[in-house]
Amino acid sequence: MKNIKYYAFPSNVKDAVALLLDKKYKAMALAGGTLVAKTLPDSVETYLDLKNLPIKGIKLAGGNLVIGAGATFDEIDRDKLCRSWAGGVISAAASKCSTQLVRNMATIGGNIARPHSFNIFPVVLLGLDAKVRLQARGGTKLIDFSALYSSGLGLRPGLDCLITEIVIPARTKKWKCEFIKLARTQSSWESYITLFFAAEKKGKALSRARVSVGALSPKPFLAPAAEKAMLAGDASASKAFASDLDAARAGEYRSTAASNLLARFIKSL
Ligand SMILES: Cc1cc2nc3c(=O)[nH]c(=O)nc-3n(C[C@H](O)[C@H](O)[C@H](O)COP(=O)(O)OP(=O)(O)OC[C@H]3O[C@@H](n4cnc5c(N)ncnc54)[C@H](O)[C@@H]3O)c2cc1C
Repeated sequence: MKNIKYYAFPSNVKDAVALLLDKKYKAMALAGGTLVAKTLPDSVETYLDLKNLPIKGIKLAGGNLVIGAGATFDEIDRDKLCRSWAGGVISAAASKCSTQLVRNMATIGGNIARPHSFNIFPVVLLGLDAKVRLQARGGTKLIDFSALYSSGLGLRPGLDCLITEIVIPARTKKWKCEFIKLARTQSSWESYITLFFAAEKKGKALSRARVSVGALSPKPFLAPAAEKAMLAGDASASKAFASDLDAARAGEYRSTAASNLLARFIKSL
């Protein structure tokens, strides 16, 4: 913080990215500001405030749900489209963020810009096959959420590109989903484990299954054995999940609790 010399308020994305890429300013993006001040590298000299950018809206486009990166947890929690999508799981997840004060300020873009074990949206977006729109040198790029934290991306959100939108594919609209934050208290940021379950039925069988796990490592991951067993109609899918979690060294408590929660979800389908 002590090295900050400039504060910029661009009003369009093009100017914002131009400033970010101008080496003279050594800029970093600031959205809600709930995390950036704690993690600011000494090398940063300019705060690039995103609050005047037109990246806050939540809308439908081509059947997909598009959430502006500047939308806050509270706006997502209260938004009608988010509340009706996939049984309202996106809003339900937003409502689990620790306190109303943080929900009022923190944005979805800031939540996913860096991998962090306890952040809520990464596990949900991985499970919903979301895409992320980036604005960087050379224009915009739509990437899979799962690619956002891969070294192959070659971009650092907030330092040399901006996240402008999160795109949730149309096919997920009717998925039956559940988000669970298993934590000491509702107002804890830290959690033992976060879980996102999704399923789609064709007749009596499942045509799609997603089991996504957070809080065990900075990047969320999918549980392939559990998903495969669910699709096969295997009654022991929760046992398969326990083996996914053992492979991730979840420990006995998390493994037992999470596999029981998956069994409950499957029973509810
Ligand atoms: C007391 C407290 C409790 C918290 N509880 C929770 C919780 O329960 N659940 C949870 O998930 N998180 C929690 N958080 C973490 C934090 O608030 C979130 O991660 C939040 O979403 C960050 O968003 P922000 O808009 O405040 O980002 P900022 O702090 O402004 O920025 C965070 C990072 O993202 C980058 N960034 C921001 N927007 C963009 C963009 N559009 N494009 C590219 N880069 C961008 C910034 O450069 C910075 O590196 C908590 C934090 C605090 C301090």
